[in-house]
Amino acid sequence: MADKRDYYEVLGVGKSASDDEIKKAYRGLARKYHPDVNKEADAETKFKEVKEAYDVLSDSSKRSQYDQFGHIDPNQGMGGGGFSSGGGGFGDIFDMFFGGGGRQRDPNAPQRGNDLQYTMTIEFKEAVFGKETDITINRTENCDTCNGTGAKKGTQPKTCSVCHGSGQEEVVQNTPFGRMVNRRSCSNCGGSGTIIEEKCGTCGGTGRVQKQRKINVRIPAGVDDGAQMRVNGEGEGGSRGGPPGDLYIVFRVKPHDFFEREDDDIYCEIPITFAQAALGDEIEVPTLNEKVKIKVPAGTQTGTYFRLKGKGVPRLRGVGQGDQHIKVVVVTPSNLSDEQKDLLRQFGALNGEHTHENEQSFFDRVKRAFRGD
Ligand SMILES: [Zn+2]
Ligand SMILES: [Zn+2]
Repeated sequence: MADKRDYYEVLGVGKSASDDEIKKAYRGLARKYHPDVNKEADAETKFKEVKEAYDVLSDSSKRSQYDQFGHIDPNQGMGGGGFSSGGGGFGDIFDMFFGGGGRQRDPNAPQRGNDLQYTMTIEFKEAVFGKETDITINRTENCDTCNGTGAKKGTQPKTCSVCHGSGQEEVVQNTPFGRMVNRRSCSNCGGSGTIIEEKCGTCGGTGRVQKQRKINVRIPAGVDDGAQMRVNGEGEGGSRGGPPGDLYIVFRVKPHDFFEREDDDIYCEIPITFAQAALGDEIEVPTLNEKVKIKVPAGTQTGTYFRLKGKGVPRLRGVGQGDQHIKVVVVTPSNLSDEQKDLLRQFGALNGEHTHENEQSFFDRVKRAFRGD
C-alpha cells in the first residue's frame, strides 16, 4: 500500500482549519471528483481519498487522534497495512506522547490489544513439508453489540460530570503548611472518564467479550521445533478503537522414529549385514519423500556415513534443501545354523592369513596395547 497523503493536504486546508472550512473544502472537492461528474480514470480514487479525509477531520475525536498519531484507521486494525507494529506497537507511541507514567494517560485513548501465544504440536513431516490447518483460539474482543462502549444499544456512555472525562480528580486539603492539591483517580467514574447509565446486556458494561475463533494457519515448510510465527492482528481486540494485538504460534515438532533432524539436515541409521558390508551391495534407503538406492562399496565399515545431497529439509530462510546423512550399521549375525558356524570358522581361519592392511594395523595397535607398549 502506498503512503497515504496527509488528510489536511488532501482537503487543501490548514491544520487549524475550522469545521466549516473543512466542510466547505470537502463539498468543493467531492463535487469535482464525484465519479458521476468526473470521467477521469483516477476520479474515483481521488473521491474516496477526499471522503476518507473528511470522515476523519469532521469527527472531532478522530481528528484529534489523527493529529496525534497520524494515519491509523481504528476500524481496520493492523491488517490494513500502513502502520506496522513492532513489539509494543501502539503502546510505545502512546508512551512517547504521554510519558508512560500512566498517571496522565487519557482514559479514553485507544489501546492496542494484547498479543496471544498458541503452542502448536505438529508431526515431523508436517514441519518438513508445511501444512495448512485451522486452530481454535479463545480471545477477548470488542463487544459487537455496544461497539466496545459498554453502554446499552442505542445509548452512549456519558462524560463523567465530576472529572469531565479526564478520569482524575483533584483533592484540595488545607494543611498547616498551606493548601495541598492531590490528584487521584476519579471516584465517580473509577478513572474511566465516562459513566455508563445503562449497561450493555451482552458484555455487562465492560465492552469486551470472550470469543472462540477459528484461525487458518499456514505452517511453512521447513519449520523447526521451537520456531515462532507471528500472525498479524489475530491477538486480542484493541479497546476504544485501538488495533488488535498479534498472535504468536510456537511450533513443537514431534520426533520421528526413524529420521532425526539437525537444522536442515536429516540423519538416519540403516542396518546392513556383515556380508553386505564385506562384499558390497546396493541397498534401499527411505528419504523424506521417496525410496532411494545407494551403493555400499565392498569393505564398508560400520558407522560409515553416506550423504544424499538435497534430500533434507527445505530451508525456511533461503533456497534449496539440506542433505540426508545415512549411517550404516553392520549387524553382527546371531542365531547361526551349524552350517553357517562352520563357514565362519573356515572364514576365520583364512582371515588369519589374509587380513586387510587397514585391519592389520588396527589389530596390531590393539596387540601392542595388550603388551603394554
Ligand atoms: Zn457490549
Ligand atoms: Zn470521573
